[in-house]
Amino acid sequence: MSDSPPVAVASSWTTGTVREVERLGETYVRIRLEVADRSDHVPGQHYVVRLRAPDGYTAQRSYSLASDPADPLIELMVECLPRGEVSGFLHDVVEVGDELELRGPIGRWFVWGGSVPSICVAGGSGVVPFISMLRHARRTGTAEQLTIVASTQTRSKLPYVEELEEFGAFIALTRENHINSYGVERVAAHIYPDELAELATGIERAYVCGSAGFVSFVGRSLGEAGVRSDIVRVEQFGATS
Ligand SMILES: Cc1cc2nc3c(=O)[nH]c(=O)nc-3n(C[C@H](O)[C@H](O)[C@H](O)COP(=O)(O)OP(=O)(O)OC[C@H]3O[C@@H](n4cnc5c(N)ncnc54)[C@H](O)[C@@H]3O)c2cc1C
Repeated sequence: MSDSPPVAVASSWTTGTVREVERLGETYVRIRLEVADRSDHVPGQHYVVRLRAPDGYTAQRSYSLASDPADPLIELMVECLPRGEVSGFLHDVVEVGDELELRGPIGRWFVWGGSVPSICVAGGSGVVPFISMLRHARRTGTAEQLTIVASTQTRSKLPYVEELEEFGAFIALTRENHINSYGVERVAAHIYPDELAELATGIERAYVCGSAGFVSFVGRSLGEAGVRSDIVRVEQFGATS
């Protein structure tokens, strides 16, 4: 997969049959679906999930793909937000065998094909698209092109934490001291520009994903770390209502 990969962007709705559901405590649900008429995705792309009530009311939200393009199923990891309309339904109600209306893959900009040395900086559920990149990198032997930084309050709140640690991701916890993948104890704190400067050595692109506050904080920190703003690509997960 090159780094100007041919990016399929689906315009029509299809059906995803839920094949696996794993509820991870009260916060996250991992859902794996078999998609009818599926187009290959590029790591970083997302799907739109549309829920439909019996009275015809619909609500739709975007969810990044965590799965490798070669995975026969697509994988979503959804954070259940308090009173969240769609995330609450996906977390509390969805079961194996259910069918969901889906549209995707979507996104042409926030994609990584494997050949550009990149740093990916995630806050909380913002790590999801980077899991697809990580899995793709591992399968295609391009892991050395990808540096992943993930930040959250505590280790237990970070989805895919074991997979990230195994990959050698840099984990920055803001409310817990932590021995990181580099074997170094890190005192609880937000990511420092100095840390980013070291991790970003030699990169040609930076991806940032998370809440509005997180992406704006990391954008500033990357600037302080000397990363040019024209190589930074941002995806913001925000409240929709
Ligand atoms: C490209 C993209 C990819 C994404 N990928 C992911 C992903 O992989 N995983 C993931 O978990 N999310 C992802 N998101 C976010 C996702 O699309 C939804 O925004 C998220 O799940 C919240 O939707 P919801 O319907 O549950 O919450 P909403 O009902 O939209 O509410 C969002 C929050 O706002 C609060 N709220 C709602 N209405 C009000 C109000 N009137 N006053 C005050 N507060 C209110 C709710 O309590 C809730 O906490 C992505 C977003 C984008 C744009």
